[in-house]
Amino acid sequence: MRLSRYLLPVAKESPADAQIVSHKLMLRAGLVRQTAAGIYAWLPLGLRVLRKIEKIVREEQDRAGAVELLMPTLQSADLWRESGRYDAYGPEMLRITDRHEREMLYGPTNEEMITALFRDAARSYRDLPRTLYHIQWKFRDEVRPRFGVMRGREFLMKDAYSFDMDEAGARHSYNKMFVAYLRTFARMGVRAIPMQADTGPIGGDLSHEFIILAPSGESEVFYHANWEKPVDLGAIDTEDAGVLQQVVSGLVADYAATDEKRDPEREAATGDLLRTSRGIEVGHIFYFGTKYSEAMGMAVQAKDGTSVVPHMGSYGIGVSRLVGALIEASHDDAGIIWPEEVAPFKVGLINMRVDDETCTRVADDMYQKLTGLGVEVLYDDRDERGGAKFATMDVIGLPWQLVIGPKGLASGVVELKNRRTGEKQELSLDSALERLTG
Ligand code: ATP
Ligand code: MG
Repeated sequence: MRLSRYLLPVAKESPADAQIVSHKLMLRAGLVRQTAAGIYAWLPLGLRVLRKIEKIVREEQDRAGAVELLMPTLQSADLWRESGRYDAYGPEMLRITDRHEREMLYGPTNEEMITALFRDAARSYRDLPRTLYHIQWKFRDEVRPRFGVMRGREFLMKDAYSFDMDEAGARHSYNKMFVAYLRTFARMGVRAIPMQADTGPIGGDLSHEFIILAPSGESEVFYHANWEKPVDLGAIDTEDAGVLQQVVSGLVADYAATDEKRDPEREAATGDLLRTSRGIEVGHIFYFGTKYSEAMGMAVQAKDGTSVVPHMGSYGIGVSRLVGALIEASHDDAGIIWPEEVAPFKVGLINMRVDDETCTRVADDMYQKLTGLGVEVLYDDRDERGGAKFATMDVIGLPWQLVIGPKGLASGVVELKNRRTGEKQELSLDSALERLTG
């Protein structure tokens, strides 16, 4: 992408209304713009990050055997009356009336809709277990939307729902998702710690929140220092219910603690390995039994001919919140430092002198070669001073910066900078190309 034809409104100053670093940087780096309280337009660069996060989430859901579908944002109030949540939900639900005076709402979540869909499609034990998911915008009329996309009113969520014949099956589905979540966040270059959680208004008896540690986080967390090391998920067989159960309960029992569940005995055993921090909730999973299936009259035929009410779980990931959370976890004074897997582009190519014929020919050529080899390049071909170009690249945080200027070219070299380490290297054009494509 040529920057001269892109939309990247970078700002020097930190916007006054932004309190936390990710919100400031998202505005400064031209990722989003607020269009109404808690509602954001995703500008081109921000959209690329959002899509990459979405892609990782999707791949790991698919890998865990979940099946993607897409439900609408608008729902009918009657659907929510079936579960009894229409009146219970409160002012966070945005209620809308259509021209025929029918009551509608902008979905804050989709338990009711998925239960209705699956109820009408599933007949017998052959149709179960199933885990279905979608990645769709939600609306919650938060009292105090703040911190940019981290607590918006409209936000993008991946929500999955599992249906099993019994509790043992449902726990297996839950454990599969648990491991899928650890994999998902690890691929984004962050550690998300699972914490036992309250089930809240969704109801039920088993729940974990996945928390990214960051000083600006809204919740205080206690955790075992072991969580600071990566968990090896490679060999876990998610189809073997026994193994999976052992792995998950092992992880939970050994490592997690929450402030409601502080246990003096365990703390004594943990000793100085107990850590305290602030954290951002990026995912939340629940097992809630037959709460919705029962209320909404769902039943399927078991092998022995009896009728069974399926056991359900639901599994959320805050896809748009993650854009902010990843920045909270990875930045420096100059700007964002994107982990490679979610970076909007891999390389920022800087042409130091667009008025210099050789310089421009070489930079154009490098741009062609890199993009031809499938590398995602943002090419700063604007007629701007070098200093401004460096500052732009630093604030938007692409993993690599490749600088092409007349001085270096005179001795046959270009400069490659690693955004995370700050390390700079002078390389020949060919070696630079090799480094970025290897
Ligand atoms: P929170 O406790 O932060 O309000 P929640 O418990 O209400 O979140 P869930 O219903 O568990 O949220 O939703 C699943 C995920 O959606 C959360 O883990 C979070 O990452 C994300 N999420 C929830 N509310 C918002 C919001 N207002 N803005 C952005 N993301 C959100
Ligand atoms: Mg939650």
